[in-house]
Amino acid sequence: MSHRAWIGLGSNLDHPRRQVLSALEDLAGLPLTKLSACSSLYGSRPVGPQDQPDFVNAVAVLDTRLSPLALLDQLQALEQRHRRVRKRHWGPRTLDLDLLLYDDRVLDLPRLVVPHPWLAERAFVVQPMLEIAPELCLPNGQPLNRLSAAAPSNDLKRLSL
Ligand code: ADP
Ligand code: MG
Repeated sequence: MSHRAWIGLGSNLDHPRRQVLSALEDLAGLPLTKLSACSSLYGSRPVGPQDQPDFVNAVAVLDTRLSPLALLDQLQALEQRHRRVRKRHWGPRTLDLDLLLYDDRVLDLPRLVVPHPWLAERAFVVQPMLEIAPELCLPNGQPLNRLSAAAPSNDLKRLSL
C-alpha cells in the first residue's frame, strides 16, 4: 500500500540551489518510492541566527511504501551523504530534509513528530505546499491556505531556474 509523504528541503551552504536539486533526484531514487510532485525553489532569510547565508527551500511529494521511520532513516542517510554538519541549532546546513506530512497520520515518537512541529508557521514550507496542492488540509482538518504562514511574506521569493 502506497503512502503520500510530504518532504521539506532546505539548504544554505555549499551551492544551496545545487544541493536542493540533487536532493530531489536522490528522493526520486529512494527504494519503494516514487517522486510524484515538487514545488519551485524558494529563497528565504534564515530562521534564528541572521549571520548566515539565505536559504533555498522546496517541497516534494513522495508516493512511498516505506514506513514513516524507515523514510526518516532514508532522509537522514541522504543528509549525511550531503555531508551535513550539525554545528548549532538552527545554524547553517548543506541539507535539511524534514518529513512534513505522512498521509493523515499524527505521530509523536522520540525521533519523529508528524505533522512536523513548525510546519504551520513557516512560509517557506506552507507556500511551496500550497503551490502543489492549494486545497491541502492538515490531519486536524485545518486548511493550509488559512494559516498565517500562507500570507504573502516579503522575505520569501520564488526563484527562477
Ligand atoms: P531542524 O530540522 O528542526 O532544524 P534537525 O534537522 O537537526 O532540526 O532535526 C533534529 C531531529 O528532529 C532529528 O534527529 C529527527 O529525529 C527529529 N525529527 C522529529 N520529527 C521530525 C520530522 N518530522 N522530520 C525530520 N526530523 C524530525
Ligand atoms: Mg530537519
